[in-house]
Amino acid sequence: MPEPDLVTIDRLRHPAPSQMRRLLLKAALGASAALALPGCATRVARPIVRDSRLVLPRLQVEEALVVREVAGLRPFRPAGFRVEPERIGDKLVIHNYGHGGCGVTLSWGTAELALEHALAQPERRAAVLGCGAVGLATARLLQDHGFDVVIYTRELPPDTVSNIAGAQWGPSSLLDREYRTPEFGARLARAARFANRRFQLLPGEHYGIRWMPLYFVSQKTEFTPGWDWGQTPELFRTRTHAPGTHPFGGRYLHEIQTMIIEPTIYLPAMMDAFRIAGGRIVVREFRGVEEVAALAEPVVLNCTGLGARDLFKDDTMLPIKGQLTVLVPQPEIDYATIAGRFYMFPRRDGIQLGGTHERGEWSTVPDPAKSAEILEGHRRLFDWKA
Ligand SMILES: Cc1cc2nc3c(=O)[nH]c(=O)nc-3n(C[C@H](O)[C@H](O)[C@H](O)COP(=O)(O)OP(=O)(O)OC[C@H]3O[C@@H](n4cnc5c(N)ncnc54)[C@H](O)[C@@H]3O)c2cc1C
Repeated sequence: MPEPDLVTIDRLRHPAPSQMRRLLLKAALGASAALALPGCATRVARPIVRDSRLVLPRLQVEEALVVREVAGLRPFRPAGFRVEPERIGDKLVIHNYGHGGCGVTLSWGTAELALEHALAQPERRAAVLGCGAVGLATARLLQDHGFDVVIYTRELPPDTVSNIAGAQWGPSSLLDREYRTPEFGARLARAARFANRRFQLLPGEHYGIRWMPLYFVSQKTEFTPGWDWGQTPELFRTRTHAPGTHPFGGRYLHEIQTMIIEPTIYLPAMMDAFRIAGGRIVVREFRGVEEVAALAEPVVLNCTGLGARDLFKDDTMLPIKGQLTVLVPQPEIDYATIAGRFYMFPRRDGIQLGGTHERGEWSTVPDPAKSAEILEGHRRLFDWKA
């Protein structure tokens, strides 16, 4: 029985219009033929790989196309995120901070862990400290469960660390090796699964969330995810493109499907949703726990990221500086890449090229030498003639 030739269409990612018309016609004829056969009406079209050549549009990497350079401080906690209740005076403070290099990714997930503590007590009025990805997801989830919420924050988007994020969905750079325990792994898995599903349920254009293939360019024949990604292998299903079947030369391409979240769209959309649901945002800096203890709301969710270091005296918190070089938007680029320490995430506000990880570095000033390295690394990666 003829099968619709769906993967040939998928593989020829940018065919000429005439070619595309032929392929669509072929697929439609195949599909209608399958449905017309007796007993075949319920059969699902199964993709078949017939043409294994991966055709991709080439990223243009030139200094003349750079539109900005930015740096931000990942709120890193060597033991991983802290989601934990604490009594301060007559307040229940629920901490939710320390997400390192994946605070956008895990925001909804650790919000759900925090919510459990909030629901375990009778009060339904809450203050959320912080208006980054973690604070906003926490505030929205509380609202969805009947809480009346006020966000208090020193900075608003676009001035939060969350605005600097790439932001590719994946739990990376979260904790140090010695803290990788089965218990933390189970909490991470729960948070990752919840967050992944929540992001999938947010309407794409409005929230600035897009699915796309992410290609790991590698010498290894098999994809070997890190410990953190390895906690939820079902979220990172892989297929591999052998050398010679793609434009990246003699290396393997391990492909996963990923979500790219655009903070410049996502964070304002979250603020709108929060306000529409009756939330209020107050711009205010807290200088000590006594100011937190004086708030009117009986429950406080601490989502201050790196700010928790000073405010709640968590001196394990430290910055990991990350720098991005942003190229002018190239709308035809509809895939992401990671090659060693270099990554490329295409967004509507520019092509994000990374990256750097400088542990303990507090400066948010982009380093021109690092920008040049990022640019050169990507120039070589996309020099497909070489
Ligand atoms: C270059 C780079 C690339 C990254 N890429 C990714 C990625 O691809 N995917 C991903 O998931 N993550 C990525 N991250 C990490 C991500 O940006 C962070 O993990 C995330 O932004 C943390 O969110 P947050 O809400 O905890 O912190 P923040 O966004 O920093 O928000 C903290 C909030 O608390 C407020 N606050 C702090 N102190 C006080 C105080 N004393 N009083 C009142 N308010 C206070 C701040 O004003 C702010 O509103 C990247 C980070 C960098 C720097």
